[in-house]
Amino acid sequence: MKLQYSMAHEPLLDVNSRDTLVANMKKAGIEKIWIAGFFSGNMVDIEELKQAKAFAESHGLEVGAVTIPIGHPGNALNPDDPDLDLEIPKHWHYRVDSRGETVYYCGAIDACLIEDNGKVAKQLRDAGFKEVFLDDDLRAGNFNEFIEGCYCEACVTEFNAIYGRQETRESLLVQVSQKLNAEVMKDWVAFQCVKVTDVVKATDIEGVQPGIMVMHFGDERHGIDIPSIREQIPDTLFRVGEYQFNDARFTNPHAKAEELLGIIYHLSFIDKKFAYSESTIFPPRSLKEHNLVYKAMLAITAGLENVLFMSGTWVLEESYWHAIAVALPVMRELDRETANVPREYPVHLAYGTHGAYAEAFVPTSLPLLAGMPVKAVRSDQSGEGGELLLFFGDYQFGAQWQEQLPRYKQVVFDQAAATKNKDILQQLQLTTNNITFWDQQATAKPSVEQISSLQRLVAQGSWNFPRFVEGNHIGLVWLKDSGKCILFNLLETVNQGILHWAGRQYPILLQPLSFAIVDGEGAVTAYHTEVAL
Ligand SMILES: [Zn+2]
Repeated sequence: MKLQYSMAHEPLLDVNSRDTLVANMKKAGIEKIWIAGFFSGNMVDIEELKQAKAFAESHGLEVGAVTIPIGHPGNALNPDDPDLDLEIPKHWHYRVDSRGETVYYCGAIDACLIEDNGKVAKQLRDAGFKEVFLDDDLRAGNFNEFIEGCYCEACVTEFNAIYGRQETRESLLVQVSQKLNAEVMKDWVAFQCVKVTDVVKATDIEGVQPGIMVMHFGDERHGIDIPSIREQIPDTLFRVGEYQFNDARFTNPHAKAEELLGIIYHLSFIDKKFAYSESTIFPPRSLKEHNLVYKAMLAITAGLENVLFMSGTWVLEESYWHAIAVALPVMRELDRETANVPREYPVHLAYGTHGAYAEAFVPTSLPLLAGMPVKAVRSDQSGEGGELLLFFGDYQFGAQWQEQLPRYKQVVFDQAAATKNKDILQQLQLTTNNITFWDQQATAKPSVEQISSLQRLVAQGSWNFPRFVEGNHIGLVWLKDSGKCILFNLLETVNQGILHWAGRQYPILLQPLSFAIVDGEGAVTAYHTEVAL
């Protein structure tokens, strides 16, 4: 485990407070910091960056660079700071959405923007930085299910020339909103993915290891093609999992579960040593200290070795560093016990076919809330070794999924999926015997009744993998090779349930928001950190 923090450089130049800041970070176990060197077209003063870096290094911290390569739509860095310069350079062009509206603060990826990002990487390298981590503004769309990209005349003309098409903004709008022609959509998202990957490539210069911070559940529809980036730039760093930045969201058990599902989903595509968490507070002070610690514990639970705290350009205050410092021994112990054991996910949650189909975004957290060892998978992920497939929600059970069908002992369709795929399922039922229908519909905020109903349905099968058969909102990640499970209470109250594992049942009781490891004999070791509710 390596704790890290991403920040602006100014606090490291402030002689009145920087010694205290660095001392706090070191007490909290921070070993590496990432300094922002470039904000959507505006380079930070290189001499100041060098000074900040030298100061941090003189206190034993490693230092990497972060850039905001194209600009976040809106002020996503620090709403406390109205003076933050977020204008993009005059020679870049703003992204234009499918309705023809300008997306302010956000550059469209064109040759100028790519070239500038390449120059930034060189400047940062010459200043002594060995890594350049591109922030998650590097994408072609926002946090939603839709296919976006820049629909300005120049970009659409470029698209037509490369892909031999005669589209206009208006015709593309019809294509992506009505999903008329999968081939056109695939070309359009491929066009976006190449642009995003080209920015990473521009950063991949001699002496610099590039990285991309991937948006929560980001995929091709957002211009992010992780396998393609890895193929072209094999040592790229990736940040995975994010989004639930504040208490208003993160307090909800389904939000915690979605964060973990997102991390685990992206880890399927990434070599663990290149993967980083994004344990973020946004806006400033909006997440309680114990929730920030919980985020780090979730990252460790998923098997992430690089835990990266972020808070935009606002620097974390003392109470946060103190909370991390107090929790540090427990975090280290959980990491020591679990880091080298692969996570096993016999339960698969179907998560679409390809980003270009713009299917439902962010899968239901229901099976995780029900205490099953589950990961979200796409139809093109073969060799993941699942036993039980949960096909929940508005997803197409297309040809690629049908090919996967015989691999699973059981495939459960909820009402939404059964309705959507009625015709093909009627045919398949004649020739297969592993399809089951659940008479409910999985939702984004699953109820306790839904959780129990799913547990009862799964209990009818014969499964050896660990799972909860009673109780709810206890997450489970299976460390099969060490014969253990990590359990975590998603509730802010004491919680209990019955764990069923290899034919035996064990009562489990967990303190509010606590983590634990249970072994095959039912012995529980608590990993409890301070919670101030
Ligand atoms: Zn454009």
